[in-house]
Amino acid sequence: MSLSAEEKNRYARHFTLPEVGSEGQEKLKASSVLCIGAGGLGSPVALYLAAAGVGQIGIVDDDKVEASNLQRQIIHGESWIGKSKLESAKARLLEINPHIEVVTIPAKFTAENAMVIAKDYDVIIDGTDNFPTRYLSNDVSFLLKKPNIYGSIFRFEGQMSVFAPHLGGPCYRCMLPEPPDPGTVPSCAEAGVLGVLPGIIGSLQAMEAIKLLLGAGKPPLGKLTHYDALNTEFRTFNLKKDPQCPLCGDNPTVTVLIDYEDFCGTKPPESMTEISVTELKKKLDNGLDGLLIDVRMPAEHAECSISGSKLIPLPTVADAASDLPKDQPLYIHCKAGMRSAKACAILAGLGFSQLVNIEGGMDAWLEEIEGS
Ligand SMILES: [Zn+2]
Repeated sequence: MSLSAEEKNRYARHFTLPEVGSEGQEKLKASSVLCIGAGGLGSPVALYLAAAGVGQIGIVDDDKVEASNLQRQIIHGESWIGKSKLESAKARLLEINPHIEVVTIPAKFTAENAMVIAKDYDVIIDGTDNFPTRYLSNDVSFLLKKPNIYGSIFRFEGQMSVFAPHLGGPCYRCMLPEPPDPGTVPSCAEAGVLGVLPGIIGSLQAMEAIKLLLGAGKPPLGKLTHYDALNTEFRTFNLKKDPQCPLCGDNPTVTVLIDYEDFCGTKPPESMTEISVTELKKKLDNGLDGLLIDVRMPAEHAECSISGSKLIPLPTVADAASDLPKDQPLYIHCKAGMRSAKACAILAGLGFSQLVNIEGGMDAWLEEIEGS
């Protein structure tokens, strides 16, 4: 794919690198990367890939920009709060580089749509923040024989690797055969994350994508890079391919995409029902026939809460369960409805059967009931 005079000028610093040059730059222009998520990791990934001239960048996301994203999701800005993350990302990327194409895929990345979405991209970047999508990203990449560039972050620590068994080395399942029990690994919302951290891990992911597209250097196959920000330490661990791996091992049992929510134990239990915040308000006005539980973190609860709710942060739900009544409904809410569904899954596993998830959580309550 030939470059215009304007593009040649734009990429001048790449042209002097023997590993890139005009040939490499044309390769980048002809290539495509799928970024799953336009959040903390997706931001630096997409910004650097766009700036570097990767011809087509696809982004899958179905979220809106929130004020609390801006501390780390640097692709978005103040004027986009409340609007689509995809549209925000696209506008920013084309502002950086109008010579690229940005494909927006306004959806959750699921087992139903993943193969169709991912099949035409050269490289897949896992910028997700949850286990079901991480396993899905791994499996779909393996089945399509495409590199999966993995990154994850937690508080002040992050890790990154490239999983591409078709090029050698293990897959994500070789490293983590079983997902952790739901609720035992807190999310960024629960545990916190220093905003620079996804910038560093996402930049490492962008670098690996560009190396793969150029065929420059060596991808870290079978190597996990771990970054500890508080001690300023990068360490590399060797990862072995597991011959028993259900996906890339000798006798694979996972040969098509599976139900990842089920696999990770995050599927809403059958005993869980859902009601809207309007229905909850009616019930509260008439005297609630059960217990209202807030599973957000104490700081979130202190900022705003529904009157009469009992605070049981998600990481402590299993421990607190023995004090909860089994003979009346438990109305459970969080910020948006995800963590409360997880809490329902945990409680269902402990024998609770009257579980009611509040759709849309505190966000919906503030918008629809308190009108702010
Ligand atoms: Zn494997």
